[in-house]
Amino acid sequence: MNLPEKVTIVEVGPRDGLQNEPGVVATEVKVGFIDRLARTGLSVVEATSFVHPTWVPQLADAAEVLAGIDPVDGVRYPVLVPNEHGLDRALEAGVGEVAVFGAASETFSERNLGRGIDASLQMFAPVVGRATAAGLRVRGYVSTVCGCPYQGEVPSDDVRRVTSALLELGCHEVSLGDTIGVGTPRQVQELVHAVAADVGVDRLAVHLHDTYGQGLANTLAAFEAGVTIADTSAGGLGGCPFAPGATGNLATEDLVYALHGSGVETGVDLEALVDTTAWMAEQLDRPPVSRVARAILAKRDAH
Ligand code: MG
Repeated sequence: MNLPEKVTIVEVGPRDGLQNEPGVVATEVKVGFIDRLARTGLSVVEATSFVHPTWVPQLADAAEVLAGIDPVDGVRYPVLVPNEHGLDRALEAGVGEVAVFGAASETFSERNLGRGIDASLQMFAPVVGRATAAGLRVRGYVSTVCGCPYQGEVPSDDVRRVTSALLELGCHEVSLGDTIGVGTPRQVQELVHAVAADVGVDRLAVHLHDTYGQGLANTLAAFEAGVTIADTSAGGLGGCPFAPGATGNLATEDLVYALHGSGVETGVDLEALVDTTAWMAEQLDRPPVSRVARAILAKRDAH
């Protein structure tokens, strides 16, 4: 396999994972989770979201979480901001990096952002503009890149258009998200090649869900296509909001295990990561969905 020597993992468990939890996790548990993750060698830990609490009550304590963490030098803690009001709150909290969240599917955009693709890009323009003017890095997310829960197929031209538009607004990188986890390896590779032909592969990341068990294969396929940044969630936290009971994000442990075994550097200490996942599983009172975490924990128990 033609894999990069080194990749960057963007840990999204505290945000993408916990926002899909049925219950609200206590602020001090979120803080403990983020602080533990940041000490495993991960260089990016997406901490929370400044989405209005009516939409995502699970992350209503975003400012308190950020105030509570004990930042590690060199670790980035981006937060999601949906609009200018969210950006105001994030700036007040003193964040160094934010992310905006768009969609490649017109229908998904209308249902989830309350506006179509073009209107959502217009909404992001002042957010990205003000954030970059304030010296922040801005990440763009494009969801539904391999399929949409409402309209089904999503043409790759739409993914290309939205990705280019976000980068033109001033995003430093765009993460391509398979929100419902329906993509397969060749599809992901072809999509990466198509988008990279417009914008270059260096500014692309992937966020590939494991709903159909394809998360790891798809992420490796993206790496073979030249991507070197992937989003994952410790323990595989985060369900799929469109498939009740299904798993969502690819587990960080599953990716780290595959990469280390293949000689690819991540900077992450797998044992420390599994310790963190085990700690979080105790807080949530259920075992992690990550196969690697389960295997390592079972092996430890056996000794
Ligand atoms: Mg996700």
